[in-house]
Formats: sequence, structure tokens, C-alpha cells
Amino acid sequence: MSLADTIAPKTISLEQEINPWEAQAARFDMAAEKLHLDDGIRKVLRYPNREIIVHIPVAMDNGTLEVFTGFRVQHSIARGPGKGGIRYSPDVTLDEVRALASWMTWKCAVVNIPFGGAKGGVICDPHKMSMGELERMTRRYTAELIEFIGPEKDVPAPDINTNEQTMAWIMDTYSMHMRQTVTAVVTGKPINIGGSRGRREATGRGIMVVCDEAIKKLGIPRETCRVIVQGFGNVGSNAALLMYQAGYKIIGIIEVTGSLYNKNGIDVQKLTECRQKNGTLKGFPEAEPADPNELFLTECEILIPAATENQITSRNADRVKCKILAEGANGPTTAAADEILAQKKVFVIPDILCNAGGVTTSYFEWVQDRQGYFWKESVVNEQLQHIMVTAFDDVVRFAEAHGVHNRIAAYMLAIDRVAYTIRQRGIYA
Ligand code: GLU
Repeated sequence: MSLADTIAPKTISLEQEINPWEAQAARFDMAAEKLHLDDGIRKVLRYPNREIIVHIPVAMDNGTLEVFTGFRVQHSIARGPGKGGIRYSPDVTLDEVRALASWMTWKCAVVNIPFGGAKGGVICDPHKMSMGELERMTRRYTAELIEFIGPEKDVPAPDINTNEQTMAWIMDTYSMHMRQTVTAVVTGKPINIGGSRGRREATGRGIMVVCDEAIKKLGIPRETCRVIVQGFGNVGSNAALLMYQAGYKIIGIIEVTGSLYNKNGIDVQKLTECRQKNGTLKGFPEAEPADPNELFLTECEILIPAATENQITSRNADRVKCKILAEGANGPTTAAADEILAQKKVFVIPDILCNAGGVTTSYFEWVQDRQGYFWKESVVNEQLQHIMVTAFDDVVRFAEAHGVHNRIAAYMLAIDRVAYTIRQRGIYA
């Protein structure tokens, strides 16, 4: 029986398989085992340090009062302040936020930036709320968390369905409580109020950097490298555009509002302009409409899931036809699917490495806010490139040295770094 069988036996239910917390814990256990991590540290790192649940009253536009449930989970602050986004979605759960908070700890450790891991979420449907309702909800959520966040404590950022405007409201609310402007309390802000140049594109740029390294390693030229991107939000659209501009052939874009295929490559620049004008990918004349499930399983060199969790499971992993899986989203692959991909020799660039460009540039934003000195975009991009290439090399070297696949290598590297810090700091009693 392989190690993967022990963590993901064939009998687990789909519900269990797609629980993000289970997915995170399965990889953590496997990596901890390989590292011979001692039991005490294993207990410390397996569970989050702090979980906050808040019930947020919001005056709605129609005069009624609604109460939304929100979470902030701080998994670890061993290596620095908690760091991680806030997502707004009707199906946010505490287990999901827990998993995402742990992933932030591992992600920050993989790229070796001085942050711990945290994540927030509010159960709501932002598409059904007005700007005013979203602003009031964001401000009250921030107020409920006021003693738990801060530049030295826990620094939120955007995630699914939150953006620069959301961060501006959080920064303002926090600043009003502190009676002074505190820009470093959140990252992913508008540039005008302490945001960093290059932050908006950073996750997509980071994906391109690690894909560049992966194709170099596998000997695939950019010009013949066919790419399919799932998701055309901040992460997917920037990855697709930057990779198109760099010479990759983007043959497929999968989106909820419509999917597109062109075997000769899509002009992503034109597509972006078309979407800006019409608000949808539908009707773009230079590509055929495609079935999203079929397109996801179409042959390509690089598949980039950049939407949500659980896209590659034990049910479809054997039909994935890419050479490189570059995980733009957090948790797009379940633990049970890992083993199947490994057998198929898919080169996986795991989420905690692949999408770490976002938090890395968040780190630059936090540094710039605290310095009060803002860098040129070229400096941001150059520093990002350096960190991503180093992290890619570290993970690949760890994988080769320990005979494990890239995901477990990334977890091992991260857990080892965090465990080392905990041992060095000792346990406060
Ligand atoms: N939400 C992003 C992530 O999952 C960014 C986090 C951050 O910048 O703190 O990595």
C-alpha cells in the first residue's frame, strides 16, 4: 500500500475528499511523517492557533436588518504576523477558512517571507448586495475584528469576491479606530492609499515565473506550449494575459459565463478588451465556444486551474491531459487526486508555490507602507521574480532529495521552516 493510500483510501466519500480541511490535513500528515516531525510540534502545527467567529449586523437598503456570519482564522504567527485574504461567498465554511489559513502559513514559508498564515471569510452573496451594503458589512466585520488585526498582528488582503475597494474600507475603518492612518493593516489596496505597484497582476505574474521555470526544466519551448486557463478573475486573467504577451499559446479559457477554445491560440489582449467592453467573454469572434468540462480535460502542456477548490478529484484526475499543472487557485486538487497525477507523471506546481506571487507582493506592499517609500513597478517585479525562482528551485530540489512529488516537497519545506522557528523561539509558558 502506498503512502497516499493510507491518507486517501479509495473508500472515502466524495464529501470527505472535497473538504478543504481534510485535503490540507492529509498533505500535512504525509509531509510531517516524511520529515519525522516530533509529535509536539505536529500537534502545534496541525490545528490553527486562533479561530474567531463574528455575527455582523448590517442595515440593508430595504430597511431590514440582516446578520452575516464571518470568520477569521489565524493558523500560525510563528514566523511573523498572520497574513491572508478575506473571501465573500455564500458557501464559505469554517473548515474552508481553516484550510486556507493553514495554506497561507505554508505558502509564506515556501517563499520565505516573514509572515504566518491567516484567512477570513464572510457568508454572503456579494453579487446580490449593493455597494452600500457591502461597505457597511465590511466596516462592521473589521470593527468586530479590531483587536485581532493590525500591521504587527494579522494583515488581511483580497481573495475571492473582495478587491481594492474592500481593502480601502478596511484600512479606513481600522484607521478611524486607531485615530491615525494605518496603511499597513491590509494589502491589495488602491495605489493611491498605500497599495503597491504590480500587486494587482502579482499572482498571475508569479504563475508565469514558475511556469517558465517548469518548461525550462521539462525542455518545452514557449512557442509550442499550449495553455488552458480555468477562471478569468484577477488571477486567471492576469496569468493568461501575461503568458500570452510572453509568447505562450493560450488555447482555452474556461469561465462561468462562457468558455472559449482556439487551437491556434487566443489573442488574450483582444479578449481582455472585448470583456472590458461587453462585460462577458461570450461572443468573442476569434475563438469557438466550448464545453467547460471537456475543455478542462483537453490536451495541453499547461493547465492552470485559477478558479476555486476541488476541480481535480479522484473522479477526473485520470482524464487530465496536461504535462504541467500550475495551481493558480488555492486547493484545486484533492489529496486523492495527487497520487493519480503522480502516476501519470504530471509535473504539479502546487498552489502554495504557484500562486504565492500575490502574497509575496503583499509583503512588498507592507514593507513599502512601513517605509513610507514606494518602489517602481520594475523593482517590484524583479524582486518577485527572484523570490519565485528561488522558491521553485527550493521545492524541486527538496522533491528530488527526498523522492517525493512537488506538493509534498513544498509542504515539507514549509513545515520544516516553521517548525525550526518554533523550536528556536521556544514555547511561552
Ligand atoms: N488571497 C491571496 C492568497 O490566497 C493573497 C493573500 C495575501 O496577499 O495576503 O494567496
